[in-house]
Amino acid sequence: MKIGVLGAGQLGRMLAISGYPLNHQFGFSGNSTDEPSALLGHMFALEDNKDNIESLVAFADVITYESENTDVAIVKEISNNIPVYPGEKSLFTTQHRGREKALFDQLNIPCAPYQMVDSEADLKTAVEQIGLPAILKTATEGYDGKGQFLMRDESQITEAWQSMNGVESILEGFVNFKRELSLIAVRGIDNDHKYYPLVENTHHDGILRLTIAPAQAIEPDVQKTAEHYMQTLLDEMDHVGVLTIELFETEDGLVVNEMAPRVHNSGHWSIEGANTSQFENHVRAITGMPLGDTTPIHTFSAMVNIIGKNGPTEIALNMPNAHLHLYDKTERADRKLGHINITASTQAELTNSIEKLKDFLP
Ligand code: AMP
Repeated sequence: MKIGVLGAGQLGRMLAISGYPLNHQFGFSGNSTDEPSALLGHMFALEDNKDNIESLVAFADVITYESENTDVAIVKEISNNIPVYPGEKSLFTTQHRGREKALFDQLNIPCAPYQMVDSEADLKTAVEQIGLPAILKTATEGYDGKGQFLMRDESQITEAWQSMNGVESILEGFVNFKRELSLIAVRGIDNDHKYYPLVENTHHDGILRLTIAPAQAIEPDVQKTAEHYMQTLLDEMDHVGVLTIELFETEDGLVVNEMAPRVHNSGHWSIEGANTSQFENHVRAITGMPLGDTTPIHTFSAMVNIIGKNGPTEIALNMPNAHLHLYDKTERADRKLGHINITASTQAELTNSIEKLKDFLP
């Protein structure tokens, strides 16, 4: 099939790399011709021609997207002509933190206490109700911890609200978590569901730096609970494709933070670490193919992000159990340039391998 991707970043690039062996072709609509996906398919650059989305749709049999910030109106219009997966409901819900949290509430999925905020006065009321510490976040468009303000004291109300630049925001109670986890799953057109194991994520300055898969010391009932939350979300949104939920592990159990209607940075380990990668499974799902097995191949996998600078990538090339993935992007502070996947059969091998890559970690 011909798959059209709205977006042309590294996620589109890795979708294409996984989809060509299945005889699919790819087209991308991105901002410019030098984006990470550009050489992996037909590029319909919006900087050349604003109508290029129409050309992409004319090219494609099915459309998917790389980002939850994709315009819902565009997706709605396209879906009058050809299928778009994940569908409008998944996109509409996940691009707004308030709508996402309302769905968690509706489905009895635990999340941080929250209140929507549209003014400084709203923020004052929200702080009184939720208490501090709390995090003020923009309702839409936030990523990698951007558009967030950690409030510790009531004296910060004016400063916190001003930092949102007047846009609709959400105040969330601060969750005292032990670890950050994520769960990636995929749902097919035929309603089949497959789940990857929970993985453990370490962030620095809001950016994911290290994922360990599977997360260590997870009781089976914790994985089951996470899968139950996931299943209710997949079914409620009639989601087709990969869905990711980010969770906090707390003394009192799992608390869901947010979700993404797409392949996710914390699932990159699955390229070499699972029987079927998250990318291949997304492609399989949206093209109506049977879903692939999600079982990990190795006792341990890990993913180390390459952020800002390419760094000493030859270290990874000289490790028998490491795989380098670069995205063909130029260096810039905080930019995701690539990642290194590690596989290991013992805890010691995992620890030693991560230690060898310490130059990539803050
Ligand atoms: P987010 O953009 O919502 O994923 O937030 C970025 C990071 O901020 C998360 O990975 C957490 O480390 C932290 N964070 C976000 N929300 C909360 C919260 N309600 N309580 C504690 N930490 C949070």
